[in-house]
Amino acid sequence: MRLLYSKITLLLLFMGFASCTSNNTEVKPEIKATKHVILIGSDGFGAYAFNKKSKLPHLRKLMSEGSYTLKARAVLPSSSAVNWASMIMGSGPELHGYTEWGSKTPELPSRFIGTDSIYPSIFSLIDTQMPTAKKGVAYTWEGIGYLFEKSLVDFNYNGKSDAETLEKVLSFITTEKPVFTFIHFDEPDITGHDIGHDTSEYYTAIEKVDSLVGIIIASLKHENMLEDSVIIFSSDHGGLEKGHGGKTLLEVEIPWIIYGHNIPANGQLDKSIVTYDTAATIAHILNLEIPGFWRGKTAIDLNNKLQTLNND
Ligand SMILES: [Zn+2]
Repeated sequence: MRLLYSKITLLLLFMGFASCTSNNTEVKPEIKATKHVILIGSDGFGAYAFNKKSKLPHLRKLMSEGSYTLKARAVLPSSSAVNWASMIMGSGPELHGYTEWGSKTPELPSRFIGTDSIYPSIFSLIDTQMPTAKKGVAYTWEGIGYLFEKSLVDFNYNGKSDAETLEKVLSFITTEKPVFTFIHFDEPDITGHDIGHDTSEYYTAIEKVDSLVGIIIASLKHENMLEDSVIIFSSDHGGLEKGHGGKTLLEVEIPWIIYGHNIPANGQLDKSIVTYDTAATIAHILNLEIPGFWRGKTAIDLNNKLQTLNND
């Protein structure tokens, strides 16, 4: 009899708990809209390179089946660290303070300081709001290593080549099924500096990057992860002749492509997108609250779908 009472008590407690959670739409859902977000950043991949001279079958497929713009912009200067920082920190250099090509620490004091004494990136948001979610970074340019909270990631790999970066990150993705992965490829920037932008060698380099994107898509498909994934492809800057950092559209305009779970096949997006909108878009897709000190805003509005999810 005593056992029966305790069982009933437990049952009543459980029912009470269940009704509390189902009646309270403020509660964040356990199941997020999207299980995996993969941000692919290809260094020095100017938007201008999407022209008749380039094949890029995998990227063009993401564009036609997702949404994109070739008018997205880097922040100024059109250099590397300042733009990678902006992309994942949801803010421009005026706020995060990384202002140069190879900034390892902010030249301008960051407006806010978070974990690991840096301006909070998308990794901080995920860590705080999805504490059990796995997240990682793999990059070929070592400069990326100064721009995120190393203590918050489950995977941190600096590859010697894009091929090695890809191999290691695919192992992480397929084993750990992370909620967020940032992959940095150092091409076509290397070819751009050595031989020049808009050269046949440059197009060979971007076609190689396209094939790496194809391998990522195939791996996600093979692991049955593609349907639950969003892929974002962008760059830190374009280039002109053998350099970048200046104020031409060839240097400043970057591709911005989004494809996957819940993402409308809208094709070309008309709105303005700046590289710091990338982090805000990722936060929105994962249903995370965006901090007031960020400046980026989401490029894709999933509010209807996320609302449905909240009410389920
Ligand atoms: Zn760069």
